[in-house]
Amino acid sequence: MTEELFNESKKYFPGGVNSPVRAFKPYPFFVKSAGGCKITDSEDNTYLDYCLAYGPLILGHANPKVVREVSNQLTIGSAYGAPTENEIKLAREVVDRIPSAEMVRFCNSGTEATMSAIRLARGFTGRNKIIKFEGAYHGAHDYVLVKGGSGAACLPDSAGIPTDTTKNTLSVPFNDEEALTELIEAEGENIACLIMEIVMGNVGCIEPKPGFLEFVRKITEENDIILIFDEVITGFRASRGGAQQYYGVTPDLTTLGKIVGGGLPMGAFCGKREIMELIAPQGPVYQAGTFSGNPISVQAGLSTLSQLDEEFYKDLERKGDFLRSNIKSIIDDEQYNIQCVGLASMFQIYMNPAEVFDYADAKNSDSERFLRYFRALLKEGVFIPPSQFECNFISSAHGMADLQDTAEAIEVALAVAFK
Ligand code: PLP
Repeated sequence: MTEELFNESKKYFPGGVNSPVRAFKPYPFFVKSAGGCKITDSEDNTYLDYCLAYGPLILGHANPKVVREVSNQLTIGSAYGAPTENEIKLAREVVDRIPSAEMVRFCNSGTEATMSAIRLARGFTGRNKIIKFEGAYHGAHDYVLVKGGSGAACLPDSAGIPTDTTKNTLSVPFNDEEALTELIEAEGENIACLIMEIVMGNVGCIEPKPGFLEFVRKITEENDIILIFDEVITGFRASRGGAQQYYGVTPDLTTLGKIVGGGLPMGAFCGKREIMELIAPQGPVYQAGTFSGNPISVQAGLSTLSQLDEEFYKDLERKGDFLRSNIKSIIDDEQYNIQCVGLASMFQIYMNPAEVFDYADAKNSDSERFLRYFRALLKEGVFIPPSQFECNFISSAHGMADLQDTAEAIEVALAVAFK
């Protein structure tokens, strides 16, 4: 049945999917429904879900409060083309939580958020070039599809993007102070912004080395380069105030997506007032959207964030620690030459024993083995993203018994992967 659906799907959608990361061989399962930490496919197989739609579902699927409040909102309209009080309430939440946020603009995706934040940085500085880290993924727009991670890891430099555009996008390895210093010494006066994932969540899960973020903050400040933290994954995930609060370093601008829309399409960018005030209609940097701040996504965001207090994050981190330490024990006991990485409610396994500091290190991991592990896990009833160059997520809907079952499934799947 799944095969039939996939064959039908391929007639209409390139590769049979509507986003490349969803494709895996021989074919992806098709989802019938989901609830809590579980997702059910068209053949009625149910999986414990650690993909969680690639990050937004920190409360799990169909959280009752979100469902109730979004349903109520639907009955009074789904788009107005005029402001609502709820947009202010959600902006207040963002400003209250995210250390760098003084003003906010809502948009419809993480891609729009990074595209607009880069345009804003260019407008503010009058400079054209930007820096990103190799393997970082900042969405699917032209400025940033250079040495990209996530689905773009198989196509890091997309066709169809003019070299006139990509020549302005410079990249260096993550966690490499020397390479960044050299680049800024050579190009500093032309660089509008440095955009980065604080934790590289699109090549697995790579944390910044101690002191690296402070170094990046200092060198960008000294060279009048706008620092953008792309917290589309880590915002409201790594901690209440995102990874910038977790690591204690504050950028000029922040991009958000995923959790801010509570499982519905949404993005946001926010930051220092003096920069944000340049956005139209207040300033000359144009940015707009028919569905921006749409009442359904805004309500889902509000209903989600209202459940995320400090206690919530402590509890989720405990779950993350529990699963990671179980996986590490399995790896140690069986002496597998691989590693488990992660923080808070994020984790990944690299089929590679050497420490991973950047994209090149991550790429040294054994992809065939990971695929065998992924397939075996599916058979055991656990769904993770089908690539090492993604991150796995835990939600509050995952109970301790689910995590224990997951650890057992991982033990079986790793044994299969190493057979
Ligand atoms: N930035 C980061 C760090 C992401 O992980 C993603 C998506 O995964 C994006 C930007 C793009 O967000 P969206 O897929 O909502 O356009």
